[in-house]
Amino acid sequence: MDRAQRCAFIIFGITGDLGARKLLPALYALHRNGRLHPETAIIGYARSDHTDGSLRAKLEKSLERFVPDFDRKSWAHLAPRIHYIRGGYADAAGFATLHNHLKGTGLESRILYTATPPEVYESIALGIVGVGLNRSEGFTRLVIEKPFGTDLESARELNRTLLQCFNEEQLYRIDHYLAKETAQNLAVLRFANTLFEPIWSNRSVDNIQITMAEPMGMEGRGEFYEQAGVIRDVFQNHLLQLVALIAMEPPSNYDATSVRNEKVKVFDAMAPLKPDRAVLGQYVASNGMPGYREEKGVAPDSRQATFAAVHFDILNWRWSGVPFFVRSGKRLEGKASQIVLQFKVPPHIPFTLDRDLKPDRLILRLVPNEGITIRFNGKVPGQGIDLDRISLNFSYGSRFNRPIPDAYETLLLDVMLGDATLFMRADEVESQWRVVMPLIDHLDLELEEPHFYSAGSLGPKAAYTMLTEQGRHWYRPWD
Ligand code: NDP
Repeated sequence: MDRAQRCAFIIFGITGDLGARKLLPALYALHRNGRLHPETAIIGYARSDHTDGSLRAKLEKSLERFVPDFDRKSWAHLAPRIHYIRGGYADAAGFATLHNHLKGTGLESRILYTATPPEVYESIALGIVGVGLNRSEGFTRLVIEKPFGTDLESARELNRTLLQCFNEEQLYRIDHYLAKETAQNLAVLRFANTLFEPIWSNRSVDNIQITMAEPMGMEGRGEFYEQAGVIRDVFQNHLLQLVALIAMEPPSNYDATSVRNEKVKVFDAMAPLKPDRAVLGQYVASNGMPGYREEKGVAPDSRQATFAAVHFDILNWRWSGVPFFVRSGKRLEGKASQIVLQFKVPPHIPFTLDRDLKPDRLILRLVPNEGITIRFNGKVPGQGIDLDRISLNFSYGSRFNRPIPDAYETLLLDVMLGDATLFMRADEVESQWRVVMPLIDHLDLELEEPHFYSAGSLGPKAAYTMLTEQGRHWYRPWD
């Protein structure tokens, strides 16, 4: 069992939602499980008026709320190691106080975490460098929250600033989706078995479908969503990461350099996206639910996309000719994330059948009921040859009956261990932006209305036509 190295863990913006909901619960869980070094100091930095005592009291309340089995005794050991420094994010005096405080702890290694809105990431990096906080006998690592830029140019600009202040090896760009158990299960499924590799290519696969369906609407985040939309919110990051995990070549080692090299090759092999390979949609009122344009913070004539179905092509020997269909949207019929590999029908069928043969499918369910289903054809008992569909089902929940750590628990431990495999490299983030930029540019032109779909449905008709025109069809995630 790995234990984190001795260090100071500094959280900028400790007063915010991420600190309360994710970071402190994760640090607390690591402490409880014996993964946090007993001399770790947690230092919160923000502008709000707090003392060590009031910050600890605030964090205790949020732990009571967000940690189901919160244990006061174990908290009593962690709480005294939490301190607060008040300062602004462009305030040299605040950074100097932080520096002096760190000297007092005697801890030479440090993690600096930007749990603030993205507007201040750069100024935090510059503030750190301004007082020499990036130089010490131990390690210094900077964790950058998402979103990383709002387009290719801003991501490049942010990378430029960060790389003036730090080495790439010191930078940990978060996409917490990568640390979810499900994403790692995918890597194990592919690279710890020989069963799947021979069929994992254009020789056997007809098409690949990735669906991430979300039943919720804006939940008060309309203003944010007006700027983001579905492409920036989930395609540029989570969905492209899933495509990469499915499409990448087996890495020589499961380490940061090898894994990220293979993922970048996938993004680089993607054919430039053409807007006519995508259907961009927006939900309208239905089933008692408001339409997007009626949501708080949304313009009444907004053309922002709350749904997209995109056809990606990966131009390499393994995947040429296999379309990757990826769709995601808000206010869809239910919650689901799944990946379907639809296989080709056999080149010759020696039986006389009175119906069309259905293709085999490998279904990787991420949410709900994480697991794997294989659907194939079997013979119905009796004389003659009659076929029916058969399912082999595996569910992680029933096979491994143990709690799954939150993604942030995994990520924070990895940062302290110096393992960047689940974090994104500069070129990786930029490649992902490069892939989606044609769609973002197209949306910015506002030339046409989005395809409207009813709240509670599975997206606009045009998304279905996109596949039926090719003689293919989407699979419903819950079937
Ligand atoms: P908050 O809006 O809660 O901001 C965090 C803290 O930053 C605030 O408490 C405040 O501290 C300071 N702050 C807020 N607005 C500004 C501003 N305009 N300029 C400078 N400082 C400001 O954000 P979250 O905690 O929700 O998120 C932090 C980061 O993490 C964001 O980039 C977000 O995208 C990302 N994230 C958040 C998730 C979540 O669950 N909340 C999930 C995934 C990613 P003070 O005023 O005391 O200085």
